[in-house]
Amino acid sequence: MHKHHSALGLATALRPDAPVTLIRPHAAARAARFFAEKFPGRSMYAVKANPDPALLQVLWDSGITHYDVASLAEVRLVATTLPEATLCFMHPVKAEEAIAEAYFQHNVRTFSLDTMEELEKIVRATKGATDLNLCVRIRVSSDHSKLSLASKFGAAPDEVKELLIATRQASDALGICFHVGSQAMTPAAYGEAMERVRAAIVSAAVTVDIVDVGGGFPSWYPGMEPPPLETYFEVIVRAFEDLPVSYSAELWCEPGRALCAEYASVLVRVEKRRGDQLYINEGAYGALFDAAHVGWRFPVELVRDKASNARDMAFSFYGPTCDDLDHMAGPFMLPADVDAGDYIEIGMLGAYGTAMRTRFNGFGAGLTVEATDEPMATLYGVPAERAVPSNVVTL
Ligand SMILES: *Cc1c(COP(=O)(O)O)cnc(C)c1O
Repeated sequence: MHKHHSALGLATALRPDAPVTLIRPHAAARAARFFAEKFPGRSMYAVKANPDPALLQVLWDSGITHYDVASLAEVRLVATTLPEATLCFMHPVKAEEAIAEAYFQHNVRTFSLDTMEELEKIVRATKGATDLNLCVRIRVSSDHSKLSLASKFGAAPDEVKELLIATRQASDALGICFHVGSQAMTPAAYGEAMERVRAAIVSAAVTVDIVDVGGGFPSWYPGMEPPPLETYFEVIVRAFEDLPVSYSAELWCEPGRALCAEYASVLVRVEKRRGDQLYINEGAYGALFDAAHVGWRFPVELVRDKASNARDMAFSFYGPTCDDLDHMAGPFMLPADVDAGDYIEIGMLGAYGTAMRTRFNGFGAGLTVEATDEPMATLYGVPAERAVPSNVVTL
């Protein structure tokens, strides 16, 4: 793979006419080590945020041994890429064939569920296995998160008691899991969810061996600057220590975004300017799905040999496809003289960015190149070497 120090080095050397993905393995490794060392329990990576095999290897090498997979394709991918990894199938609605293959061919022992029907499915598909870790997913609020996960999955309070009692019978280790929604902006999200866990345990009066606080750990984006991750861990461990669980109960979490957001950025080219709209070669059907569909803002930086002296102004982006929907409202703050032919680096696209690409209209993933400089922002210590422009904050 090509290696470049920075987006500027790459743009200067290659003048690429398709978007280039810049990966920063050192940033993902730093995030993984942070979770492996500081989360007071087990951190498993939620593969859907970015299934890049090179990333999986970096996380493994940096101490992440467990992987939250949600589809048979993810099971097979991680089993092939990291044969010694432990896989946990944490999608509450699975095909029976997928459960069977995961259990019998890939040694998966941990499954989540949120209904009696799914419990029966797991018992049937594993032929009544007695070595299962079954995690009951309970519904919690997504009020503190930027992307809700509160409607689709999770047993409601009036269903939890019966489900926990039945699942206890079928499991070797019984767990309770939840997901507070993605990009949780305050640790209180976890504190409140843990109250739901307590209520569920008390109502069912069962022994619980695993408490899995799910994903939702934030990254940094313009207008979405979260408090330090340590404050999340403190709230979680305090609540966990207060729960009526077995003495040897384990604490798990399933970060996706927080482990990989800093891993990738994308270098794009401006093909046309119309007022405050920039037509770029990456968009809603590419790595900018969230920018288009949920109004997510990503940090941007003009990549030019000679820095612009113009002051910043707000731009919106159009992507390369022929579709009006291929529009990212932003606002994206860039020097006022940006024009066709300029390159822009769009940062923090490692989570739910590069993973979302389609080939619609003939546009898709271009080159991937390793960059050795720092990501545009980091939650894991202060990057020393990146020159920080005015529109990007380093924490
Ligand atoms: C998506 C997902 C995650 C990861 O969520 P992030 O917000 O990216 O941390 C974890 N667990 C489950 C079950 C998920 O569906």
